[in-house]
Amino acid sequence: MSDLAERMRARIERLYPICRSITGDGVRETLAILAESVPLEVRSVASGTSAYDWTIPEEWNVRDAYVADPSGRRVIDFRAHNLHLVGYSMPFRGRLSRAELEPHLHTLPEQPDLIPYRTSYYTRDWGFCLSRRHYDALGEGPFEVCVDTTLAPGELIYGELVLPGSDAGEILVTSHVCHPSLANDNLAGLTVAVELASWLAEQPRRHTFRFVFAPGTIGAITWLAQHPDVVPRVQHGLVLTGLGGPGPLVYKRTRRGDRPIDHAAAHVVAAHDGELRDYSPYGYDERQFNALGFDLPVGRLSRTPHGEYPEYHTSADDLSLVRDDHLLEALGALQEIVEVVERDAAYTNQRPYGEPQLGAYGLYPTTGGRAASEAVMAMLWTLAYSDGATSLLAVADRAGLPFAAVRRAADDLLRAGLLA
Ligand code: ZN
Repeated sequence: MSDLAERMRARIERLYPICRSITGDGVRETLAILAESVPLEVRSVASGTSAYDWTIPEEWNVRDAYVADPSGRRVIDFRAHNLHLVGYSMPFRGRLSRAELEPHLHTLPEQPDLIPYRTSYYTRDWGFCLSRRHYDALGEGPFEVCVDTTLAPGELIYGELVLPGSDAGEILVTSHVCHPSLANDNLAGLTVAVELASWLAEQPRRHTFRFVFAPGTIGAITWLAQHPDVVPRVQHGLVLTGLGGPGPLVYKRTRRGDRPIDHAAAHVVAAHDGELRDYSPYGYDERQFNALGFDLPVGRLSRTPHGEYPEYHTSADDLSLVRDDHLLEALGALQEIVEVVERDAAYTNQRPYGEPQLGAYGLYPTTGGRAASEAVMAMLWTLAYSDGATSLLAVADRAGLPFAAVRRAADDLLRAGLLA
């Protein structure tokens, strides 16, 4: 395994057992782990603060949660798997019959070995999730139920990392941090985002890159409410999620569908045999950023999207679902997309009267022979279309060449004075 794959794997292994939610210590611990790799800043917003149509809820933390049988044995135990407890369960203690307990139990009858992932953020309730087989074996009770949680005024936190560029225009990259022990959704997105940020920190940058690691929905809306100054500067954006699971890369377009990020991502994802999809107002935080009031050009990169793979939002979304080669490929594709949005430009051919004699400029390989190399073809395509309006990305698409090859050709031609 490469060092890079090992680093990404080690990070998700550390993050996996943590009980995350939209608030609470799990998010603190998670951001602290991410901050070991990149210098992100943690921002805090108090419970009760409003953000457009939403209000920051009370902070939720868990000390313990279990259901015990008449002998005192824990038959459902939060400590064994954090998916056993419904996220945001309110505190509860009591002795319940099986019939009284059942409305609080959640299973997946169609997938009898898996624990479902359930939350109850905005309705005060408590509950436990368990596999159907486990449920069938619970016995008749009565049961001792303990939900030792706290819901109290506190804060919502998110992580933010800004890598300044030479221009004021920004590229927003976000990834949600609110899911407990689920690996593909979204530890895969987080670990890839962290490596993308570390790589970018070492690159020359035209745009300013802003990474936001926030809880889904409420976190994104809170970030938007708190950054009215930044919102107009966002020129491109990507939501990253589910990058390590099954299937090829899938890019979901922005609401308008014709933004530069859509063209850049389409070019790269197609080269990775991935899939392109149109916008829909459901999914991850792209729906907040693309909302009419903001209308930000934010697309989404994932693999097989939410709800379309059987492990989605179950205990089977574990470390074994995330493939190292998938994480590496996703990171590579993101680096390619970044290169396009950072370095795309339109130039003008300075010798448009026939084909310039490339050899005279030292641009034609002297050891040539049979077919023209990709480098020569990239120069010929670039000269053929550089009319001052056609972008290098459009040239690459038209030529069926990688953007990087066309960009290299343009750099050579610029040095030789053949493009301006
Ligand atoms: Zn999810």
